[in-house]
Parts: sequence; structure tokens; C-alpha cells
Amino acid sequence: MPYDELAVPGVRSLQPYQPGMPIAELERRYGIRNAIKLASNENPLGAGHLALAAARQALADCARYPEGSGHFLCARLATLHGVAADAITPGNGSNDVLDMIARVFLGPGVEAIYSQHAFAVYPIAVQAVGATARVAPAHDGSDGPAYGHDLAAMRSLVGPATRVVFIANPNNPTGTWLEAGELREFVAALPDHVMVVIDEAYFEYVSEAKYPDTSRWLADCPNLIVTRTFSKAYGLAGLRAGYAVSSPEVAQLLNRVRQPFNVNSIAQAAALAALDDVAHLESSIRLNQVGIQQLGSGFTRLGLSFIESVGNFIAVDTGGSAAEYYERLLRQGVIVRPIANYGMPNHLRVTVGLPEENARFLAVLEQVLA
Ligand SMILES: *Cc1c(COP(=O)(O)O)cnc(C)c1O
Repeated sequence: MPYDELAVPGVRSLQPYQPGMPIAELERRYGIRNAIKLASNENPLGAGHLALAAARQALADCARYPEGSGHFLCARLATLHGVAADAITPGNGSNDVLDMIARVFLGPGVEAIYSQHAFAVYPIAVQAVGATARVAPAHDGSDGPAYGHDLAAMRSLVGPATRVVFIANPNNPTGTWLEAGELREFVAALPDHVMVVIDEAYFEYVSEAKYPDTSRWLADCPNLIVTRTFSKAYGLAGLRAGYAVSSPEVAQLLNRVRQPFNVNSIAQAAALAALDDVAHLESSIRLNQVGIQQLGSGFTRLGLSFIESVGNFIAVDTGGSAAEYYERLLRQGVIVRPIANYGMPNHLRVTVGLPEENARFLAVLEQVLA
């Protein structure tokens, strides 16, 4: 039986998400040790001690189902964002929320818009439910940061069939970002039948004065959905916790397709504790700022151009096909991310690591480029 033909049309042509290679897999494959992974935008400091302690404590009660609605976590997040508790939708990572949005608002016959080089989960979520993707060309560098989202190009794709626009701010893998003024204008100009998703997975890392906290716009923008995650600056990627902030009406729709108990009890407890660990968040942000500088000046020294990034990663132009450099880095025990699947075959995306990890990456990169 050609089971492929039984799959729904969207799934038939879908390519699965490609995660970064785990350290254990690399070490097994090449028989090496002490590999480092700078491939998945994880926090190099790991989780904070408060989150770890809360997780351990929650583990003891794991025979019980989790708090199904994530009551305590959602109440805490509502306070953080200045919204009502029923405006928060908890997710098994923010990926889960992006998927819920697609299942609620998209399907055959309607369209979603996102930018060229945008986060890879958008095309997957859109295609899986049989909707049509309209991809706006990114800025070419003439009147906006090269590779960044071009809001005018995105707006020109909006039509009667549009239901969702996905915007990553900042975007992964480019690290480019949108200012409050232009983004607010874009959101305000959208017709009522279009939901706009602003994915703020790297929110905590951004210190630019004009970078917006779009959850503050919800009172005026009922068609807005903001997503955040505990996977990046909070260092809890392995536990899977994220959420959406929206109007209560939209949250209620998302809740209809949300799996019961989608955020496990350990993740809920750890996320709640992580919000209180301001010291860990601040050291994570500081370490990232230093690391971004270290990598940027390293690339400049090597004569490589890179895309200015406000995230915890940088896309560097290797000047040729990056696939081969990726492989050579792997053999030296350094895992980064090739991003040809994002339409950027000459770039590698590297996550900011500990200073010694960044230094090792730069040294090995210099070697493999030679
Ligand atoms: C990492 C990332 C996410 C979410 O990851 P989760 O672990 O599912 O929360 C969402 N959006 C972007 C742009 C990301 O880079």
C-alpha cells in the first residue's frame, strides 16, 4: 500500500523539521569526545537553580496529572503581561501554540503569510492543515536590513483569503528585528479578518530602545497573538513550555484544540520558578551580549560578513557553500546549524555559547576555512 497517498495533501509534500544534531549523536558518529553544540539557540548556562529545584520537587508528584489549565503559571504570566488570566494559552513549547493557531484559523482555501527566511515552523504548521502559504521576499538591504522581514512586501500579499500573518521578532535564523513604529503601523492596517502572530521567542535578549513588547498592544489590537517561550533565555528547552498572549476570545478558541495536559507538571513548576529567578535571566542576557561581540569581532577578523543579530545566535556568511564547512566543523567536534533549508546556503547559524565555546568555534572555523 502506498501509504503516502493516504496522507492528507498538505502532509504528502511536507518535509519534517530538522533539529540541530545532539552532542551524543555526533560523538557516536565520529567516535570523538568533548563535542560542543552551538546549534539550537539553547542557553549555555543551562537552567537556573530555582527552576531546577522546582522541577525536582514537582517530579515527586508525577503520578498525578498536571494542572490541566496551567492555572498558577498562567496567572503569573497574566500579571507579567498586564492581561487577564484567560488571555494566556499555555503551550508545550511555543511551537505547540503556533500549531494550535494554524488548526484554529487555517485550512484548505485560506492563506497564511510569512517572510522569506522566516522560522521553519510556520511553513510546516501552515502546510499540515492544508492552507496555502504566501511567502513575502525579505529585504535586499536597500531600504531595510538585508534578510529581514519586509513589512510592505508582506502587506501587499494580504487579500480576502488571508487569515494569519506570522512575524518573528527577532527572526530566527537571521537575528533581524522590527521597530515598534513600523510594526504597530503594520498591525493597525490589517483588515479584521486577519490574525497577526508576533513570535517573540528571543524577547528577553533584545535591549534595543525601539524594540516593542507587543503584548502591551493587545487592548487596542484584538487580532494580535503574541507568543513567548521558556526555551531560550530561561534555559528550559528540554522541558517544553511556551505560551500565547491574546484576547480572551482568541484564547478560548485556541483552548478548543489544545491537548489536555499539554504542559507537564515539571515544566509548569520550573517555568513558574524561572520567572522569579531574575539573577539567572540577567546573567544569561549579559553572557549573550559578551558572546555576540566575541563572535562578531571573530568573524570580522576572519574577513567574514555576518547579519547583525539581536538574538542569541548569528548567521555568518562563509563565502561559499556552507554545507562542507558544517561537516568539517562536525569532525572537529563543533556542531552549528547549516541553514540552506531557509534559503541561505552560504550561511551557518551559530548559537552564542560560553566564552570558551565561542573561542573554540572561532578557532576551528579559521582552521576549516583555510
Ligand atoms: C526556538 C523558537 C521558537 C520556539 O521554540 P519552543 O521551544 O517550541 O518554545 C519559536 N519561534 C522561534 C522564532 C524560535 O526560534
